[in-house]
Amino acid sequence: MTTQALSYAVDENDHLVKVDRGYYSFAEENGWTEAGTSLGRSLWDYVAGEDLKKVQRLLLRRVRDDVGDVELPFRCDGPGVRREMEIRILARPGGRAVLFSARLRSEEERDAFQPLLDAEAPRGPDALGMCGWCDRFEVEGEWVEVEEAARRLGLFERTEMPALSHGICPDCNELLLAA
Ligand SMILES: [Zn+2]
Repeated sequence: MTTQALSYAVDENDHLVKVDRGYYSFAEENGWTEAGTSLGRSLWDYVAGEDLKKVQRLLLRRVRDDVGDVELPFRCDGPGVRREMEIRILARPGGRAVLFSARLRSEEERDAFQPLLDAEAPRGPDALGMCGWCDRFEVEGEWVEVEEAARRLGLFERTEMPALSHGICPDCNELLLAA
């Protein structure tokens, strides 16, 4: 069974101070082996890519300083599954603590296993840009879904996957900054 919701909270230094059972079960389903040591760690240890970190830091600052509460769609795909989620980021009034709660909106099995999203797949020397928010890939200057990226790059004929270089696409950059 798939986890439907999870939440976690950070303190004023962006350290994880609380995670719920959904967090652990979601982590287990997705093979995040280090979830057990999450408490006390920096939230930013879990965000891949400097650009995405930068935009998320800005968003978090705005939530703390004046917005208070935002809700945003995001993707959290796995090798065999396409997952659309919604995250709510809520700053506690007065305090600097921020609560994140994510819930699953839809989950669909993919037509084919996507080795590009498999953390265990061997990686070659070439790099492929991936948006850490919507899970799309940059191929020939265009941001496309994993199936399309795999097709264009001929990944099913390869034994090694390109290394992933995490960033943020222009659409998500705009979405997060406008939140
Ligand atoms: Zn994106």
